[in-house]
Amino acid sequence: MKPFAALLALSLLAVVSANANQKFIYYTSDDGINAGTAKIMDAAHESGVKVTFFVNGNSLDASHWGPGIVKDNIRSFMRMIREQHAIGDHSLNHMAHNSETEPADGRNIYQSLDDVKYFGKRNMAVFAKILQSLGLTIAQTKDVITPMSKMVRMPFVNNWRVTMADGQPPIDFTCRNCIVPYKSAEIAADVADALFKGGKQVFGWDLEWRSTYGDGLVNTPEEVMNAVRKISQGVKKAKGGPNKIVILNHDHGFLYGDEPKEALGKFFEMAKKEGYEFRTLATYATD
Ligand SMILES: [Zn+2]
Repeated sequence: MKPFAALLALSLLAVVSANANQKFIYYTSDDGINAGTAKIMDAAHESGVKVTFFVNGNSLDASHWGPGIVKDNIRSFMRMIREQHAIGDHSLNHMAHNSETEPADGRNIYQSLDDVKYFGKRNMAVFAKILQSLGLTIAQTKDVITPMSKMVRMPFVNNWRVTMADGQPPIDFTCRNCIVPYKSAEIAADVADALFKGGKQVFGWDLEWRSTYGDGLVNTPEEVMNAVRKISQGVKKAKGGPNKIVILNHDHGFLYGDEPKEALGKFFEMAKKEGYEFRTLATYATD
């Protein structure tokens, strides 16, 4: 091999092995915007981490929440944009139109293919309207809304439909036992297919940091770190392989006090120390 070719081969090898050694965590938070959202951003800011928020348009419904809360939620929305977090579509109303007669626990949560209409335009219109009312131009509004509408997480169900970068197989996964009855899971699979056909990336999660409405986070940062390590070691599987770990948490875990925020900050620092890099789902397909 000629010296130049050898050098090139070596440097290519270095690039490949550097990539192979990279470990990414995608911290995602669902069901915002609420009073917990800002606290997640506080922790992220302190650790220099960008996160992904999957939001519901009805969190900006003043007739439901009152103008004071909605004003705070709008402020958090603008902060997400300013601090360059990724924002995705979690449906307009978290499928509440189907849970009026059912408990909102995943029973009969998907009832027809019409549920697909609660994603995309109908949810995005709420956020676009806010941006316009704050004086953003149509082009600036599109810059926010277009990527936001492309990234979807379905309420209640860990379904994946993700196109990956060239040369990598797509991720196509349907969770049949996330929700009951079976018919609802079947409809959710059809909804995921329809979203994907409509050009969306549908993201599920690899592990959940459990939280409650009243009592904050259920898992400790150490427990979550252990779960992350298990995936890296191949003991547990992640959809995108052992170097790409999507964590699900919820904004409502951060509603009260500063303890959850501190726990999240602790987790960010622990993971960084172990060589994990935090990314948003905006780059998941190409990382
Ligand atoms: Zn949700």
